[in-house]
This record gives sequence, C-alpha cells and structure tokens, in this order.
Amino acid sequence: MDLHPFRQRTFKQRASLGGIGLHSGSPVRMTLAPAPADSGIVFARSGVEIPALAEFVVDTNMNTSLGRGPVRIGTVEHLLAALVGCGIDNARVEVEGPEIPIMDGSSDPFVALVREAGIHELRAVRRFLMLRKHVTVGEGDKLARLSPARGKFSVSYTVDFQHPLISDQNYKLEMNDRSFQKEICRARTFGFKRDVERLHRAGLARGGSLENAVVVDDFNILNPEGLRFPDEFVRHKILDAIGDLALLGMPLIGHFTAVKSGHSLNHQLVRKVLAERDACEVVQPRAADELNEMQERLLPLLALEEQVA
Ligand SMILES: [Zn+2]
Repeated sequence: MDLHPFRQRTFKQRASLGGIGLHSGSPVRMTLAPAPADSGIVFARSGVEIPALAEFVVDTNMNTSLGRGPVRIGTVEHLLAALVGCGIDNARVEVEGPEIPIMDGSSDPFVALVREAGIHELRAVRRFLMLRKHVTVGEGDKLARLSPARGKFSVSYTVDFQHPLISDQNYKLEMNDRSFQKEICRARTFGFKRDVERLHRAGLARGGSLENAVVVDDFNILNPEGLRFPDEFVRHKILDAIGDLALLGMPLIGHFTAVKSGHSLNHQLVRKVLAERDACEVVQPRAADELNEMQERLLPLLALEEQVA
C-alpha cells in the first residue's frame, strides 16, 4: 500500500524488542505504541514523558541523551532516525532501562520493528518545518548547515578521518520513504580500536562489541563479516544526523550539508535554527502542487541565498 505523503502517520499496534545498552551494557526493553495526531514522538520511562525535542537534550557526548528531572534516556538517535526514515509523525516509545538498545549498531532493527507495528495513516495533515534561510554552525574545519531547497529533504555529507579506510567519503541522499531504508538504515556505528579500549577503561561503551559496531584499527576492519557498504561510515553519519535533526520536532523541507559534523555540532545547528525565529516556518501542504507553490514563493529568496552562499 502506498502511503499518502502529506498525512500524519502513527502505528497500527504495539511492537516491542529487547537488547543491550551500548554505554550501560545493561539489558533494555522498548515498545513502540500508537499516538494521536499532533502529539509528535514522546519517550516514556518510569512514568515520566520526555518529548523528542531539542530542549530535552541533556548530553551529546558519544550519543544523544534526553532527560527530564531525574529521568534520562540515552542513545536515542538510531531509533529517531528510523522513525523519521519511515515518516512516523506520532509515536509513544516506552523504555525499560537507561538507554535505547544498540541492537546491531544500525537503524535496521528499528525499521523492522516499525514494519511489525504497522503504519497507520491519520486524517490529520502533516506539519513540516520549511527552511527560509541558511543557518550554519562550524568549528575549525567542521561545518553543519541547513538551507532552503526545492523538493523535500536532502543531505550531502562529507567525512575525512585521515584514515586509509575512511578518508574523504561523501554521500548525497534524497530523502523519501524508500531511500532511507535502502541506502542508510543498515549502516552501522563505527569506532577506532584505540578509542574503544580507552572507553572501556573509562567504564564506557560497556555493551560495545563487534556485534554492534564496525571497529577499525590503523589499517583493517576487525569485523570478520566486513562492511555492509564500501562507504558505510559516511552513510552512518547521515543516519546519526537524521536522528539528531529529528529533535527539531517535525520533518524538514530543505537541504542539510555537513562536513565532518557529529552529534554535538548537529545539536548546535538545531538550537540555532530554533533560536532564529525567521530561519524556518511550519507549513502544512496537502499535496505536492501545494508544496511547489509554497516553494515558488520562496524562489527569489532561494536565488539570493545561493549567491550569498
Ligand atoms: Zn550512530
């Protein structure tokens, strides 16, 4: 069944999975549950509800954690990417444990869980955040930028780790219901062997193993099964960014450019977009031609912005 691109989505029914937390190493269980129109994505743990919004981010070091009062939920980014990638607008995510399970280090198991829960189309029209101007953040040679663009949401991402296996990968994604699942969702978390050893000594990444991350030493991939894509690293960085940008609270209409960005810079960008009132507007097109009309109105502005950029 083809889904309507401009109607809000939630789940048909509940679906659960269990696994271990990457950082805590403890067993965790989570359940996807249907949620009403305009409620967004909301996490629930120990009777506390935490909306998946930037204002609830409490940590962006190695992963993205949300918190409210004494309750925290870690490693939300791969699940959020899966929900965005499947076009889920409204979801209740019940979590029993300190973080979302790492599973195989990708979003694939969460996409499978969305399929198990089934997608239910609501009558309500989707809300999108449409970029009205360039918003850029940078740190040294790192950059993250959201820009107005034609069409829906697209990404161009460049990484360069000065490593023979991961130097200079770049990737472009045109986001739609299929592209995320085909090109991005299977790309796994990765790490360098020396960092993994350092993290273990510091009591971090306790659940980390070759089962849930690609690990590289100075010249080799240590996982016996190898890579899922030759450019799996940059694809995973796109997956992470889609999860981080989900904290804007609705799907985007615009283009995301990143050079060597990561969770921390992505979050700086999200906060800057939210702080600059004229950076974007909430739109509710009911059909593709209505979206085109909205973007036509933006065209003079787009041309101007492109000259500046
Ligand atoms: Zn990741």
